[in-house]
Amino acid sequence: MAIGLGRMFGFHFLENFNYPYVSQSVTEFWRRWHISLSSWFRDYVYIPLGGSRRSPARNILNLAAVWLLTGLWHGAAWTFVLWGAWFFLLLAGEKLLWGRGLARLPRVFRHGYTLLAVMISWVLFRSPSAAYAGAYFQAMLGLGGRVLGFSDSSSSSAKKGESVADTIAVASAYADIIAMRHPKEGAPMVAMEHSQIPVINAGDGGHQHPTQTLTDLLTIRSLKGSLSGFTVGLCGDLKFGRTVHSLIHALVRYEDIRFLFISPEELKVPDYITEMLKTREISYEEVTSLEDVMPRLDLLYMTRVQKERFFNEEDYVRLKDFYILDKAKMKLAKPDMLVLHPLPRVNEISVEVDDDPRAAYFKQVQYGVYVRMALILTLLEI
Ligand code: ASP
Repeated sequence: MAIGLGRMFGFHFLENFNYPYVSQSVTEFWRRWHISLSSWFRDYVYIPLGGSRRSPARNILNLAAVWLLTGLWHGAAWTFVLWGAWFFLLLAGEKLLWGRGLARLPRVFRHGYTLLAVMISWVLFRSPSAAYAGAYFQAMLGLGGRVLGFSDSSSSSAKKGESVADTIAVASAYADIIAMRHPKEGAPMVAMEHSQIPVINAGDGGHQHPTQTLTDLLTIRSLKGSLSGFTVGLCGDLKFGRTVHSLIHALVRYEDIRFLFISPEELKVPDYITEMLKTREISYEEVTSLEDVMPRLDLLYMTRVQKERFFNEEDYVRLKDFYILDKAKMKLAKPDMLVLHPLPRVNEISVEVDDDPRAAYFKQVQYGVYVRMALILTLLEI
């Protein structure tokens, strides 16, 4: 409009924006966005300072100077300095580090990368303060949802005698998703039948824990590069450990998986699981000694003895330290075996194992965050 109006009065303005959002890199973006500003800084700051004609170090320094000034040109605020610094990092990175690699990626990635980089910059640009921008990024990364709910039934109407079905019908009116952890097996199934909104089973008694399994699968897939062709050892409380039950159910979908169930006699996997394995002709062995099978494993899934599901304290005390994975046992394992654990850990993995590169249980937590974010976004159809 400005160009057109100018032309009516006989002025010929240069083009200032040339479809910037089609750019395939940040470098290209700055050739298309606010062209008058970038060419001014190029001609009056970058080139007089020596541009890229001097040493590479000097070139970087020149870029830094240009972007510090470009930031401050927009206003005297730290957010503009950060905004400039962000573009400096991206442009220097593209020049020296990932520019060539980026050019080889499919168009959709180059475009996505550029849009993401620019969107991040606009948050810095528009935020009233750096702290506000920080909170904004946190919300973007953490999805920014709010939690309504209770962590204990004693602080809900269940205490007054409300049924699961009614609690769920009420919660459906308030929220977009229900994540339910319940001591009774099957409670999320009942909830699902009475809910208007998606219900996530976040663990039901000693039965199943599907989101932990998604976490486990993502961890294995990311760290091992595949979900097939493994000998998987599951060790500890295989009777009450719901994460174990879900994981077995999921892994049987992949090819060439063999299970080694390592547990004391009292804590063996429930029959409904071994029946399922027999029907599907999936190989499994039930053993008591962890040491004996250690060299055969590609994955070792350790679990704690589920204190809360024991009927008497004595049995728990007798069984709780049945397995302790320590450095000596790790020596028996393959160099690329992974140790997973759904956490919390009690004594079953000695802290001395934490530094072993094969210990993946804390990385697993991080994958859990991503997988649950993805699940929420999928359920919200975002
Ligand atoms: N956090 C897992 C669960 O909720 C494992 C455990 O508690 O041992 O089942």
